[in-house]
Amino acid sequence: MKQPLENLTKEEIATIIKPAFRAKQIYTWLYHHYVDSFEQMKNIPKEIREQLEAEYILTPLKIVVVQNSKDGSRKYLFELHDGHTIEAVLLLMKEKEYHEDGSLKHHERYTVCISSQVGCKVGCAFCLTAKGGFVRNLSAGEIVEQVRLIKKENSIDANRRVNLVYMGMGEPLDNLSEVVQAVKIFADLDGMAISPSRQTISTSGLSTKIEKLGKMELGVNLAISLHAVDDALREKLMPINRAYNIESIINAIKNFPVNTRKKVMFEYLMIKDVNDDVVAAKKLLSLLDGIKAKVNLIYFNPYGGTQFQRPEEKDMIAFQEYLIKRGQLCTIRESKGLDISAACGQLREQIL
Ligand code: SAH
Ligand code: SF4
Repeated sequence: MKQPLENLTKEEIATIIKPAFRAKQIYTWLYHHYVDSFEQMKNIPKEIREQLEAEYILTPLKIVVVQNSKDGSRKYLFELHDGHTIEAVLLLMKEKEYHEDGSLKHHERYTVCISSQVGCKVGCAFCLTAKGGFVRNLSAGEIVEQVRLIKKENSIDANRRVNLVYMGMGEPLDNLSEVVQAVKIFADLDGMAISPSRQTISTSGLSTKIEKLGKMELGVNLAISLHAVDDALREKLMPINRAYNIESIINAIKNFPVNTRKKVMFEYLMIKDVNDDVVAAKKLLSLLDGIKAKVNLIYFNPYGGTQFQRPEEKDMIAFQEYLIKRGQLCTIRESKGLDISAACGQLREQIL
């Protein structure tokens, strides 16, 4: 079967077609002009286009559904060539920046939340993606294409800054090789030029893979879905904790190369009466001792059939204040796109 050209780095394309500068031209067509056929690559000689056409496909994804949220977030359901579906979300956030004269300017910052697998093996009790089980890994091209198509659909200029979070469906570190390939393709300066320092890989905590990723020195940011501070509760919420407990995760992070200006993000999904007590905040503080960490509290986003409930705002704030007062950076994630069930996995479930 033909593979998507979006699976390949520019250097790999350069080994297939000569002279090598053609690879740069192809990258420009794909990632700056967002073309979806070889025919549109006007400055590429016909023989080369035919050679590519014979061996590769373009645009391995089709947009099936788009949902707009009141806050400007936009959620996409994509169909893969084999009929399976995945989600990605375009999030708009106001970012503060300063003009040269020191005055404040606000502008929209784009963040795209992307999927790395169809389904997920990890099986967290609170996660809708887990309910459907695991189907397959995405190829690098299928990961890249989520962003390329969203940029195209929203006419986002090639030069606009975009951040990526691997927080959609699937466990990125369980598909490490394709995710790493995608990180490289995104980062290419002749392509989308999304520096690894603007890409955040979120993991349920596969410690050995965190070590492996760290050794690659890619410069990506890491987010850990911690959600519980003691192993007994974490095992109930996230069965993977039996294989990789909290201590093993903390040790792996201590060896992870963190960019001097960055921090490791700890995601803490707050669930009413399960993990929303300040006692947990206290334990969290001691766990993070010695780690350059930023805590991000997330409201559990309920869906039909779940046993869990959204936490109360006052408990979120008490938890946050406990940490902040003791010098630990902690934010509460705005529930972006809550009205479109933006916790990934939720759109797919509604449609299927
Ligand atoms: N598998 C990776 C990345 C995808 S999940 C991971 O677990 O980190 C991305 C984030 O969405 C995780 O922090 C996960 O805990 C969170 N999440 C899952 N279900 C949710 C729900 N119902 N409400 C809010 N966040 C949810
Ligand atoms: Fe998988 Fe992440 Fe969902 Fe857990 S929260 S089941 S790791 S996608």
